[in-house]
Amino acid sequence: MSETAVPSTARGGRLWIARNNHRYRSVSFFMVFLAFVADGWGEPAGPTWIPLTLLCLVYPHLVYLRARHAADPLAAELTNLVMDSLLWGAMIAALGFPLWPAGVVWLSALLNSTFCGGGRVLAMSVLAMIGGAAVTGALVGFELRPNTALSAAVILVASFSIYLLSIGLVSHWRYEQLRMAREKVRSSEQALEQQLVEIRQLQERLSEQAIRDSLTGLFNRRHLETIVPRELARRARDGSELALMMIDIDHFKSINDRFGHQGGDAVLQALGALLNETVRGSDVACRFGGEEFLLLLPDMPRACALERAEQWRRAFAELTVESGGSPIRATLSVGVAVCPRDGTSTEELVRAADLALYEAKARGRDRVVMARAGALDEQASAAAGGRAGELRALGEDR
Ligand code: GH3
Ligand code: MG
Ligand code: MG
Repeated sequence: MSETAVPSTARGGRLWIARNNHRYRSVSFFMVFLAFVADGWGEPAGPTWIPLTLLCLVYPHLVYLRARHAADPLAAELTNLVMDSLLWGAMIAALGFPLWPAGVVWLSALLNSTFCGGGRVLAMSVLAMIGGAAVTGALVGFELRPNTALSAAVILVASFSIYLLSIGLVSHWRYEQLRMAREKVRSSEQALEQQLVEIRQLQERLSEQAIRDSLTGLFNRRHLETIVPRELARRARDGSELALMMIDIDHFKSINDRFGHQGGDAVLQALGALLNETVRGSDVACRFGGEEFLLLLPDMPRACALERAEQWRRAFAELTVESGGSPIRATLSVGVAVCPRDGTSTEELVRAADLALYEAKARGRDRVVMARAGALDEQASAAAGGRAGELRALGEDR
């Protein structure tokens, strides 16, 4: 059992066995000493009382001091256990193998070795005790004293019982500590898992918030910038048609002027809810900015797109929004572009839909206008400034 230096923080834990064994040794060796006194003071081996007294009354404190000051108290204490066996083997042989004390000492020493050090220390203790007894027996001669005084036997049985019961109590105490530590670990694991779930939910909520418009609950423009190129690539693969609609509430400024910003917000929320409730799972409804909305409708042929846009226009026109006790009615205009007919890139489609929307406004509002073939070329130079520049940003952001 090599003794290597142990960090001071771990020393306390490793000293525990030495401290415990010091208590056992002090009490049990003293009891064995009493038993020998009761049994006739070392007879017939003569002057063995000097080593017996030293072993029973002094040795326990010396070996405890040794373990206390050792670099590794646990390793030192395991060596002490083997030493106990060696010395008791020698002592028993010197005392002429008194049957009862020999039996009790043999069992207690080996039990303690096993309890503290496991199979390896047990094997070493067995060898040490047999070796100690054999060498001493060879020196002083072998004899067997089968008879033990009743008083000595009673003391030995009592001390052995106390020893076994105290081992039982210590084991129980340690088991309870282990159980409580396990429960603590389990409950902190559960708390940690709960925290992880909450963090994950928070992350999901945050990433959802990052792509949603807070007023209407529709997707925001940032999300659109991610989704449009993806949908265009998918459309290019399967060759289907994809519709892009620009929706703008008519005379929204005057709604704000008449009903206040709150009234305007209520109208925006109403249109948001209408779109949210009526789009398909594969459609993307987004608040493009202000009172403008953009719808991306995959697998949507031109004729269907016109029909859907008309449905939304009509549904919105029939809607009455309540705000501050005032009923608000509004209409919207829609410009529809279909990929690939009106463009194949984000920029082309947005511009085509926007031009169609402006045509709808110019033709009196509250209507749906499909992008005209070639309209982009006609308007390209005219729309170079102002609003078209802003719309182009969506394509250029990519
Ligand atoms: P048009 O029929 O040509 O579309 O006219 P319009 O008044 O709807 O268009 P314009 O672009 O002149 O006005 C849009 C107004 O929308 C201006 C702005 O103050 C208002 N607005 C933008 N964002 C919000 C918002 O979040 N809430 C409210 N209440 N108003 C907003
Ligand atoms: Mg507008
Ligand atoms: Mg408007």
